[in-house]
Amino acid sequence: MADEASQTLAQRLDGKALANKIQQELKDRITPLQEKAGRPPGLAVIMVGDNPASAVYVRNKERSCERVGIASFGKHLPKDATFEQVADLIHELNANDLVDGILVQLPLPDHLDSVALLHLIDPAKDADGLHPVNLGHLVRSETGLRSCTPAGVMRLLEEYDINPAGKTAVVVGRSILVGKPIALMLLEANATVTIAHSRTPDLAAVTRTADILVPAVGRPGLITADMLKPGAVVVDVGINRVDKPDGGSKLVGDIDADSVQGVASYLAPVPGGVGPMTVAMLLHNTVLSYSQRCCS
Ligand code: NAD
Repeated sequence: MADEASQTLAQRLDGKALANKIQQELKDRITPLQEKAGRPPGLAVIMVGDNPASAVYVRNKERSCERVGIASFGKHLPKDATFEQVADLIHELNANDLVDGILVQLPLPDHLDSVALLHLIDPAKDADGLHPVNLGHLVRSETGLRSCTPAGVMRLLEEYDINPAGKTAVVVGRSILVGKPIALMLLEANATVTIAHSRTPDLAAVTRTADILVPAVGRPGLITADMLKPGAVVVDVGINRVDKPDGGSKLVGDIDADSVQGVASYLAPVPGGVGPMTVAMLLHNTVLSYSQRCCS
């Protein structure tokens, strides 16, 4: 059995601290822009229904906006809102000069086609970076608004001087929200990238090749120590709520965080890793589109 006392703990990739630093930088950047523009940046968050997890996320985003000086326009529609009602609201926000960023909080109720609605957002106000125009810019390595969670992963690596160039990177998960854009950003940063997914026959054989491993699946404990290359950098994107023995619950990632401690060199924990970075990049995108719309 490994001698736990002799294990070198993985260095923590502290997303919370970095997100605070980014928020301060954004605050400083907004002040001179606001003098020029005569108004603060604005972010509109559309929420449909009463999903409790979404309500927490929306509240967090609104609080973060307040901290950095972004005006937030909360738009809450009832759970039985029609496609046309949400579409009308998006069109209205597209035309509103006080709004620089528009975000539709996912998931939407089942009767709404979220992809069709995301396509209606003006790409210049697409704070989440999920519009096909912005995803297309990413594919072509052109500037544009980048998806927040993947951009947060890249910014976290940069902060700790972890340069993906020449490294082998494995992303587990291929969703359009997380897995695919992260893989493209790692490729853009000159890593050699593999995407593993639910149909990958021997996941461990693939993850063991990774210098940088990014699990983005949503399965607690999926990645264990024996699936890592020693010294790997692990950026855990998964967020899972699991029961605790005392009857409460807690958030964990896709990594079995305790078991990988003696094996990984760096670890972005859950909570406190990628989650806060996602919000920081949302604010970053809003300020970016504000500066382009008001002052370029
Ligand atoms: P998704 O369900 O759309 O995609 C999950 C992906 O995992 C799929 O591509 C699937 O092929 C893959 N997968 C499923 N089972 C697998 C297995 N056994 N082995 C290998 N691959 C498997 O989910 P998503 O929207 O991409 O989110 C993924 C995770 O990231 C979730 O836990 C979500 O909560 C989390 N997330 C975190 C943030 C953040 O801010 N940290 C943001 C978005 C999503």
